[in-house]
Amino acid sequence: MMTEDKRQAAIIEEAKAFVDAEIRPFVNDFEEKGGVPLELIRKMAAKGYLAAPFPEKYGGLGLDPVYYGLFTEVFGKACMATRSLITVHTSLVGETLLRFGTEEQKEKWLPQLARGEKIAAFGLSEPDIGSDAKSIMTTWNEEDDCYVINGRKKWITFGDIADVFIIIASNNGKSTAFIVERSFPGVETKRINGLMAGRATYLAEISLNQVKVPKENVLGKLNFGFEYIVSTALDNGRFSIAWAGLAIAQEALEAMVSYSRSRSQFGNKLRSFQLIRGMIGDAVTKIHAARALCMRASELRKQKDPDSAMETTMAKYFTSKVAVDVANDALQIHGGNGFTNQYPVERLYREAKVLEIIEGSSQIQQEIISDFGLKRYYKRSNKS
Ligand SMILES: Cc1cc2nc3c(=O)[nH]c(=O)nc-3n(C[C@H](O)[C@H](O)[C@H](O)COP(=O)(O)OP(=O)(O)OC[C@H]3O[C@@H](n4cnc5c(N)ncnc54)[C@H](O)[C@@H]3O)c2cc1C
Repeated sequence: MMTEDKRQAAIIEEAKAFVDAEIRPFVNDFEEKGGVPLELIRKMAAKGYLAAPFPEKYGGLGLDPVYYGLFTEVFGKACMATRSLITVHTSLVGETLLRFGTEEQKEKWLPQLARGEKIAAFGLSEPDIGSDAKSIMTTWNEEDDCYVINGRKKWITFGDIADVFIIIASNNGKSTAFIVERSFPGVETKRINGLMAGRATYLAEISLNQVKVPKENVLGKLNFGFEYIVSTALDNGRFSIAWAGLAIAQEALEAMVSYSRSRSQFGNKLRSFQLIRGMIGDAVTKIHAARALCMRASELRKQKDPDSAMETTMAKYFTSKVAVDVANDALQIHGGNGFTNQYPVERLYREAKVLEIIEGSSQIQQEIISDFGLKRYYKRSNKS
C-alpha cells in the first residue's frame, strides 16, 4: 500500500507534468490575452488542483501544509496567474471557509469550489484603505431578514470572473465577513487594467450597492471579522505568497545558472567571471535560507503550533525580498536578452515585485515581526 508521503509526493510530480504541458508554454499568451483561459481552470479543477489542501470529503486532494507549499511552488514557478487563483480561491477563501464555515456552508461551498463550478475571491482592500485594513469603509446594516452591504472593494484578484466573494464590511468600527454571491442584486465588478504583472488574474474593483445578504451568509461571527476571518485568511494568503516567492526565486536561479553556462563573452562562459559567480552564490544561499523558512512554517502549520503564523509572516517577508533580489540578478546576467519576453526572467522580475505589496506589504510584515521580536527577545535582567 502507498504511504501517505508517497501519495502526496506523487500528486506533486503529477502537478509538475500538468504545469509543463498545460501552462508553461502558454504564459505569455495568457498575459497578452489578459486572462487565464476558463478551459484551463476547468482542467485544473478536474485534477483537484483548486482544492489541493481540502479534505477528500469536500473534493480535495488532502495535501498537508508541507505538500501544499510544494504544490504552490510548482504553479508559482511557471505562472503567476494560476498560482494567484490557488492563493485566493483555495487558500484565502477555501481554507478559511473550511476553518470557520458552518457545516452547511462547508457542504454548500467547498465541493463547488473544488469542482471549479464557482470561482471565489476575497474582498478586503478598498480604493482608500489598504494597509490600515481595520478602517475599511464598506458598511453593513441589519434589516429584518438580511444584512445590507454598501461600499467598494479594489484590487480583487480574480474578482472579474468570481462567482462568490468573502466581503469584509464594517458596522460602527466592528467588521464582519459575509459570503456574497455575484448574482445578488447590487454587486458589480469592473476590470482593472494596466498592471505591471499578473495581467491574466482578472483583477477587479467591486461595487456593492444596497446588497442584501441572507443572515446565514455570515462567515464566523458577527463583529469578529478581523479576529476570526481576516487574520486567518491573511495567514493562509501569506503562506501561499511565501511559497510563491520561493518559486520565483528558484525559477530565476535555474534561468541564471543555465544562461551563465551557455553564453560566452571575452572568450569565456559567463559562469567563469567572478562577479557573475558572486550573484549565483548569493542567490543559492538566499534561496536555501528561504526554503528553510518556508519548510519550518509548513511543519509548524502541520503540527498546529501557535508560532506557525509568525513563522509564516517571516517566510512571506523574506521570500518576497529574495524573489525580487534573485529575479533582478537573473535579469542582469541575461543582459539585453533578459529585457525581452523571449526569456522567462523578464516575467519573473515583474512578478516578484507584487509579492512585497500583497497580503500585507513588507513594511507591515516588518512591523508585525518587530512587535513579536520586542516581546520574545526582551531580557528584563539585561543592563545596558
Ligand atoms: C496585484 C494585486 C492583487 C491584490 N489582490 C487583492 C485581493 O485579492 N484582495 C484584497 O482584498 N486586496 C488585494 N490587493 C490589495 C493589497 O492587499 C494592498 O495593495 C496592500 O494591502 C497594500 O495596500 P495599499 O496598496 O493601499 O498601500 P498603502 O496601505 O496605501 O501603503 C502604501 C505604502 O506605504 C507603506 N505603509 C503603509 N502603512 C505603513 C506603516 N504603518 N508603516 C510603514 N509603511 C507603511 C506600505 O508598505 C506601502 O509601501 C491586491 C493588490 C495588488 C497590487
